[in-house]
Amino acid sequence: MSETSTDIERVLSAPGVKENKKFQLLPEEEGVAGLIQSIIDTGGRHKEDDDPFYVLNLTTIDELFAKWTRSLRGIRPFYAVKCNRNRSLLEAMASLGAGFDCGSRAEIESALSLGVPPEDIIYANPCKAESHIKYAASVGVNLTTVDSVDEIDKIKRRHPECRLVIRIKPPVDANAKWDLGLKYGALPGEVVPLLEAAKSAGLAVVGVSFHVGSEPTRMEAYRGAIAGAKAAFDAAEGLGMAKMTMLDIGGGFMARRQFDEAAEIIGSALTEHFADRPELTVIAEPGRFFAETPFTLATNIIGRRVRGELREYWINDGLFGSLNHKAYDKSTVFTATPLALSSDRQNPTCEGKETYVSTVFGPTLDSIDTVLTEHRLPELRAGDWLVFPNMGAYCASAATSFNGLASSDVCTYLAYAHSHSPVHAAENENGAK
Ligand SMILES: *Cc1c(COP(=O)(O)O)cnc(C)c1O
Repeated sequence: MSETSTDIERVLSAPGVKENKKFQLLPEEEGVAGLIQSIIDTGGRHKEDDDPFYVLNLTTIDELFAKWTRSLRGIRPFYAVKCNRNRSLLEAMASLGAGFDCGSRAEIESALSLGVPPEDIIYANPCKAESHIKYAASVGVNLTTVDSVDEIDKIKRRHPECRLVIRIKPPVDANAKWDLGLKYGALPGEVVPLLEAAKSAGLAVVGVSFHVGSEPTRMEAYRGAIAGAKAAFDAAEGLGMAKMTMLDIGGGFMARRQFDEAAEIIGSALTEHFADRPELTVIAEPGRFFAETPFTLATNIIGRRVRGELREYWINDGLFGSLNHKAYDKSTVFTATPLALSSDRQNPTCEGKETYVSTVFGPTLDSIDTVLTEHRLPELRAGDWLVFPNMGAYCASAATSFNGLASSDVCTYLAYAHSHSPVHAAENENGAK
């Protein structure tokens, strides 16, 4: 683990991270239980505070960045802000050298407010409001994606300095959970008309982008999309336009599966189609890859009902809040770790305890707000906690405040796994190194 953690000091000293309290995540058996206990005890929460919270492990971001660089060397990530716009995550990504993929005026504003130069931002939304295009022009964000002739007209009117990236629809279906190709991306027959429209509008087309979809299962889609991009490069040259120099391979990367497979396919497809273009800059727009695994959500059990053998629990976050995936995709099964910090402090992780078939409900009065069904959990009580790992991608960013339960502003505590610096070790409340 430590071989990859070369830049953690850079992350820990980034503005927006440095001045915040950070908890040290101990590697031993205490693990998450110990961390969550120390946040509850010393996190500056008031005594009765049972609100849910996130823990952001900064070391995980650092390790993911190292993993990215090892497998996709030379491909700069432009982190997709929509996936999770937590300030410390954005600061950490900027400190490690990422650019940013922004989809709206507000997302551009958050990236710029970190001190990120406008050249490090791609406005990667193929259909933008004119007022947002005007804003991009006013702050010098001069790179955007398009997939329609009408969008080119808008950009010509509002931001003629803007350089264009043609977003194509990947020709090979990635069988993704979230198929963005249903909505975005020029079809093969639309590429030439787009290039011609840009040419006659006097706008520079600098490259091609695609997105194979979020949570893809067929990584060969990257190969097909890179071939499709090459065809668009050739078409531009066929029209006598300037050589394109940018290929944007989008998002869809997952830290927990098929990353090496995707990287290998991308590497071989780049060699096959772009080896003769040393001037080419390749970028990507990963969201989930960097945001998903560093975040853990801790929810408080606020109520219980016993019906025979069945245990029913209510927690204070749910489908209208951070656990919203399940509202879009019923097959989602969350991992939930019990922490009996109230009912059994001697054995909070409930090792060796009997389990019961349990239902876990979210806090709103809508019956769709059911987080887990037919799930085995030990006997828990109100005041105990349920902890959900890997909750950083499209969780907080898609939460609502339905029923007055504003889970969109759940507090995030910063943690890191280990550090060689005595300064950070001194901040550890447990006094353990
Ligand atoms: C959502 C989105 C991303 C991020 O996708 P992930 O699957 O989270 O990596 C990247 N680019 C664009 C244009 C997007 O809309």
